[in-house]
Order: sequence, then C-alpha cells, then structure tokens
Amino acid sequence: MAMSVFVVGSSNTDMVVKAHKLPAPGETVMGDLFLMNPGGKGANQAVAAARLSEPGSPAIRFVAKVGNDVFGHQAVEQFRQEGIDSTHVLTDPQHPSGVALINVDAKGENCIAVAPGANHQLRPAEVLDALEQAPAGSLLLLQLESPLPTVEAAVRAGRERGLRVVLNPAPAQLLPADLLAQLFMITPNESEAELLTGMRVTDMASAHRAATYLQQAGVANVVITLGSKGAYLLEADATEGQLIAAAPVTALDTTAAGDCFNGALVVALAEASPLPDAVAFACRAAAISVTRMGAQASLPYRKELNELPL
Ligand code: ATP
Repeated sequence: MAMSVFVVGSSNTDMVVKAHKLPAPGETVMGDLFLMNPGGKGANQAVAAARLSEPGSPAIRFVAKVGNDVFGHQAVEQFRQEGIDSTHVLTDPQHPSGVALINVDAKGENCIAVAPGANHQLRPAEVLDALEQAPAGSLLLLQLESPLPTVEAAVRAGRERGLRVVLNPAPAQLLPADLLAQLFMITPNESEAELLTGMRVTDMASAHRAATYLQQAGVANVVITLGSKGAYLLEADATEGQLIAAAPVTALDTTAAGDCFNGALVVALAEASPLPDAVAFACRAAAISVTRMGAQASLPYRKELNELPL
C-alpha cells in the first residue's frame, strides 16, 4: 500500500426541518422545508480531503461504521462517488446508521438530537485492521464522535506504525494524558482549546499560552483554529508560534468550516507541505467553505483552490 490519508470517524445523515418556530415540549409545529444532508465529522473531513486531493495525491481511506439501511447504503455510494476508498466503511447488522434530527426556526436558531447508532459500534480491532498495511509517514485523522476506546486504540496503533496522527478534538471532551502524548498534531477550535487547557482562548497571545500548555502535555504540533482570525500554529520544539491569517471573505454559513480545515490540512501534510504552508492551505479551503451554505455542500474542490487568488 502506498502512503495514504486515513480518516477514522462518524457518518451521519442530517435531517433538517425548517419551521417558523422550534417546537416546545409536547408541541407539533408545521414546517415548511425538509432537507436531508450527509454529515458526521468523520465523513465531512474525508469528503473535504477527497475533494482537495489531486491526481497523484495520497489516497483518502475512510474508516467508519454505518447501518444496514438506506442511509448507510446511500453514504457508501456517496463516498465512492467522491473517490474515497471505503473498504473499511463497515456495515453493522444490528444498529441503524447515525442520524441527526435538526429543527431550525426562522431566525436560524436550531435544536438537534443525534442518534449515533452504528457510529458507536466501531471497535478498536476494526480500526487496527484498517491500519494494518498503512506505511509509515501516512496520515491518520480522528475526531471524537467515535467511542473513546476506539480513538485511543487507533492513536496508539498509528503511533506504533510511524503514522502522523492528527486529532481534531471535536465535539469537545476531556482527554486522557497518555493520548495527548502520542499525537503528531492536535487541532482544537477556541472552545475546545479552552476545555482541554482551562485557558480562555480569544486571540494570538491566549492561543500561544494554550498551545504551549498542550505541547507540555506531550502533543508535538498544535494548531488552534480561531474562526475569522485564521489559525495559530505552534510547531514542535518551537517557542514562538505564528498566526496564519484567514482570507478576508464574507461568511455566509460556517457549518463544517472546522471539518474542511482538518480535511485540507491532512491532504497538504500528506503531500509533504511544510507545516505553515499546510495550515495556510487549510485556511484557504475553509475560507471558501464559509462563503457557501451547508456542510458537505460547501466543501471546495482542489481546482477551485488552485484558481482562487486568496
Ligand atoms: P465550525 O464548528 O463552524 O465547523 P470550528 O469552530 O470547528 O468551525 P473555526 O475556528 O470557527 O472552527 O473555523 C475553522 C477555520 O475556518 C478557521 O481557522 C479559518 O481558517 C476558517 N474560517 C472560519 N470562519 C471564517 C471566516 N469568517 N472567514 C474566513 N475563514 C474562516
């Protein structure tokens, strides 16, 4: 197997009902629009990575679990169309595919219920099996929508095989110290960085303090995403970090900006870009994504990035 990008994580179907108001407990509200969109942080990041690859880029391989139902079948077909290797997108015979039920009101306020279903059945042994042939230097990207023991086992196996392990610690949760110590890179946003470090992150100075804290906890490289400000990079063994500024764009919808950033980042790293260039590439990709509506619908293609004078 040639050098690859492995994305391990969740695949969901988002079902969105837009209505003039959110239903109160016990209430039924008539909606005016229904949308069904592919989602899940793992799938979003794998799709971003696939769209940002170009001929000759390392293959994008997604490791996930879906149910034996229409949502799971649709998801696998979509991964295939995106050019993602789905050999290790497994089908659980008992549990349904992950779904998110989303109500949105006229002001854009939402309330969301997620049933992770098969996502929570992804076992450590299944991920280890997927990583069996991975050559050293490959990238392994994970988030926290999979069971923590599976994430921990994948990080350990990735580290042992000489993979560069990147953790996007979203949704935010506290992590065991020995997990942090094995990471090539961590990519929290401001609120995730705050949960992990206990330090409020709002600007470059506070991002530097939080990044230094994470390095002292054992992470090699730290990237803290700062929304419209861009991203703060503190490289391994460096005492000074740098702010990679976001492109000045008019944001329409920031849904999946973080997923786009992470997918782009691992593609650039797999193509042997130096870290600051990889972060700049990720900022450019994410800037395009925020100018468009939706999650996966907003994720850009490499051609668009190459053509955009950001
Ligand atoms: P989300 O939860 O909306 O997917 P996030 O909270 O995980 O995003 P952010 O730090 O908000 O992550 O954004 C990720 C990256 O997206 C930023 O580092 C930046 O490069 C880009 N980005 C986000 N918002 C904007 C914006 N308004 N203008 C330009 N780039 C942006």
